[in-house]
Amino acid sequence: MTKILIVEDEENIARFVELELGYEGYETEKCYDGREGLAMIKERTYDLVLLDIMLPGLNGMEILRRMRQFTDTPVIMLTARDAVFDKVAGLDGGADDYITKPFAIEELLARIRAVLRKRDSAGAAKSHNFFTVGILTMDVDQRVVKVGDSHVDLTKREFDLLHYMLANVNIVLSRETLLEHVWGFDYYGETNAVDVYIRYLRSKLEEPFGIKIIHTVRGVGYVIKDE
Ligand code: CA
Repeated sequence: MTKILIVEDEENIARFVELELGYEGYETEKCYDGREGLAMIKERTYDLVLLDIMLPGLNGMEILRRMRQFTDTPVIMLTARDAVFDKVAGLDGGADDYITKPFAIEELLARIRAVLRKRDSAGAAKSHNFFTVGILTMDVDQRVVKVGDSHVDLTKREFDLLHYMLANVNIVLSRETLLEHVWGFDYYGETNAVDVYIRYLRSKLEEPFGIKIIHTVRGVGYVIKDE
């Protein structure tokens, strides 16, 4: 269930928004104070935060600035029509969108849906195209592999093998599985090809940097552990 935090000191607005979001199937929590709001964001996980700007305790821009140091949870700022709010500063400060009070609830709902959609597609793209294990990173689109800040040159086969193992992190992969997925079903070469390529990867990724990424599971195969 999508969970939304409402930080808004005008209790009528907060209650109205909470009610409407409830009708739409969102789970909500609300608070009327800036400091309390920031504490809730720190302690719990929300899918989205609706953040008023003028708040007692701590203002919305300051909450946004502080929360961006530890989370990328989407934020929609609620701004008063006649308040001096620099929209550019708000969006530069890491807000995903803003809406001016008073607003039609349909508009707020549309903006919430848009922000959640954007987050979902960004998350999906990220998880498919970028991998991190310890200090090893792989950017699949750019075909760049790094250990720390150092680029590591891999052949196409080495890259494909590492990619498949990263996509199946924490899963022990047999030689047969790796041959099938990385070399292809019709591979008729040496059956120890996997071991040879694992050795190449280790000599490029582990030995120069003194790290351990690929683990051998005796009698089974290999695994990259994300620990
Ligand atoms: Ca307010």
